[in-house]
Order: sequence, then C-alpha cells, then structure tokens
Amino acid sequence: MTRLIFLGAPGAGKGTQAQRLSAESQVPHISTGDILRTAVAKQTDLGKKAAHYMNAGELVPDDLILDLIRERLGQADATNGWILDGFPRNVSQANFLDGLLEEIQQPCDFVLNLDVPDEVLVTRLLSRGRQDDTEAVIRNRLAVYREQTEPLIDFYRGRQQLVSVNGNQPMDAVTAELKRVIAA
Ligand code: ADP
Repeated sequence: MTRLIFLGAPGAGKGTQAQRLSAESQVPHISTGDILRTAVAKQTDLGKKAAHYMNAGELVPDDLILDLIRERLGQADATNGWILDGFPRNVSQANFLDGLLEEIQQPCDFVLNLDVPDEVLVTRLLSRGRQDDTEAVIRNRLAVYREQTEPLIDFYRGRQQLVSVNGNQPMDAVTAELKRVIAA
C-alpha cells in the first residue's frame, strides 16, 4: 500500500519521480497538471475554464479541482494506493484533502518534498518547452509556488509526515533516495 503526496516547485521533478514510484508500486500516478492539460486539449468544460489560468501561471480555482480529486480517488484503481502530484497546491486544498482522506479512510503515508534551488528550476523549465514554460509565465509560477504552495511544507511538517529530499541530483539518485524513504 503506497499513498504519497509530492510537494516541490515547478520543475523540481515531481512528475518524473511520481511516475517512477507509480510504476514500481503499481499504484496510479495522479497529476492534476496532466488531468488539466488533457481537459484543455479535449476542450472540455473544465479545460475551457482552466486554460487561461494555466497559460498565465496562476492556479486554477479550487472549485474546478476539488470534485475532480474526490472523484479520482474514488475510482477502483485508487483503492490500493495513489501518488498525488500537483495536489494539494494551497492550504485550502490541503484542508480539503485531510477531510477527504479521513472520510474515505485512506491516510497518506508520506509527504515527499523535492528541494531544488531556484536558478536550477528556471533552467530546467526553460529547456522543457511546454506551452506554459515561457520565462514570464515561469517566473509567475514560481512566485505563486512561494506564496501558496510552499506554506504546505510547514503544514505537513507539523505532523511529522514530511520528508525533504535533495532534488538537485541525477534523476536515478533522487529515485533511489525516495525509494529508501518509502520503504522505511
Ligand atoms: P508544474 O509542476 O510545472 O507547476 P503542473 O503540471 O503541476 O506543472 O501544473 C500546471 C498548471 O496546472 C499550474 O500552473 C496550474 O495552473 C494548474 N494546476 C495544476 N494542479 C493544480 C491545483 N492542484 N490547483 C490549481 N491549479 C493547478
């Protein structure tokens, strides 16, 4: 049983590492960014509402995300575990998740924070070339991260579930360290 929450700035490597641990533990990788990008590509109602926030580097409003998470965690493949990547992203999402996990009786095992210096993040994001990876949007995503998401480190530290890992090392080294943490 693996239930993990990934924290970390844009470009910290959450997606890559979440994907690897998901393959290893055979539990779904749930990325709100991926879900939203698919919705935008398919031009669903959600996608139409989310697109301009994403392109500006802002968080999409909570009301677009919360039901989606409730529904996703309720799906059959999530009963044996999950790895959340990109959610929660602010304190109100974290409070919502607390309530939801209690309701469905699925406590999270670890909150994994990937630590990477700002200048490394900007370089990585600029080389990634996604539609929302222009320099101005990247700077705004980092500012939004500092303001809204970084406080979650203290939110989770208070309950001793949080483990910070140095994300500024080769990908395989990060994966190895994360595996050691979740095996403990
Ligand atoms: P990154 O890790 O580079 O920030 P993501 O793929 O996680 O990229 O997210 C891309 C965009 O999707 C975010 O900038 C934001 O607009 C939106 N998004 C993703 N997850 C959430 C969330 N939990 N709450 C609000 N907006 C979100």
